[in-house]
Amino acid sequence: MSSRLEEQLRADIVEAGRRMDARGYVASNDGNISTRIDKGRLLTTPKSVPKGYMTPDMMVIVDYEGKKLGGDRDPSSELPMHLEIYRNRPDVNAVVHAHPPTATGFATAGVPLTRAVLAEVVTTLGSIPIAEYGTPSTAELPAAVRKYIKAHDGMLLANHGAVTCGTDVMSAYYKMETIEHFAKISLVARLLGGENLISREEVERLQGLRGMYGIAAPAPLCADPSELASGIDALCQVLEAPESATERLVPALNTVARTDVNEALRAASRDGEIRLTYGELTALIADAVKNLRD
Ligand SMILES: [Zn+2]
Repeated sequence: MSSRLEEQLRADIVEAGRRMDARGYVASNDGNISTRIDKGRLLTTPKSVPKGYMTPDMMVIVDYEGKKLGGDRDPSSELPMHLEIYRNRPDVNAVVHAHPPTATGFATAGVPLTRAVLAEVVTTLGSIPIAEYGTPSTAELPAAVRKYIKAHDGMLLANHGAVTCGTDVMSAYYKMETIEHFAKISLVARLLGGENLISREEVERLQGLRGMYGIAAPAPLCADPSELASGIDALCQVLEAPESATERLVPALNTVARTDVNEALRAASRDGEIRLTYGELTALIADAVKNLRD
């Protein structure tokens, strides 16, 4: 018979699954959720079940090697990714994995959510990197997640989705909500010409307030972004936050467009004719207007 605690954990997983489905974070049987019961056992969602329509009795009990200890169904094939997170994060009691469409769009375009844009995201998750692509259900995915999990409570999974962790099921789930919400806001801001970024000084001030709100900091900011050299597990976070002694918000440079413009100008000097795409032309005009204002 299951304990009161286990009953509660089963109910929490059912509720998080229902919310993931209601918000469109999963299609079909996508996604999985797990939580620690005790030192030897985890409770996790079954495979091949829509996450919005689970009942508490469907859950599977496994050990920390992934061996099934109880339940009528089999655990998700993504369980090894969850196990990897628990192994690396003794402070974490729950893991949520889903495919929220906007965040997954960023993950598919190879665009990480690493800009300091929203004070709440800076204080809670900090930076949201992209774990390298790994074939789902293979050892590649846990290996890709391992690189970032010590220093991040949430990350995008290249061409796949997102994963979050927390001290309990709902806190891990809420981080998934935050990531998708942040992705939507970032997308709109970029459609409107790009984000203003929170300055590094302000980021430090915001992160200093974590204690006041009872938020555990996942990891400090990297003093030097090259600390995150490939092959080394990240122990710090890279956050795009420009230094500014006077401004708390600094416009993000449209570096991609600028590079394209420079390339076009270089090509022009070769054959004497300037050819710009519409995007490059508007970037050039936006640049010129900005320089006039400054
Ligand atoms: Zn998935």
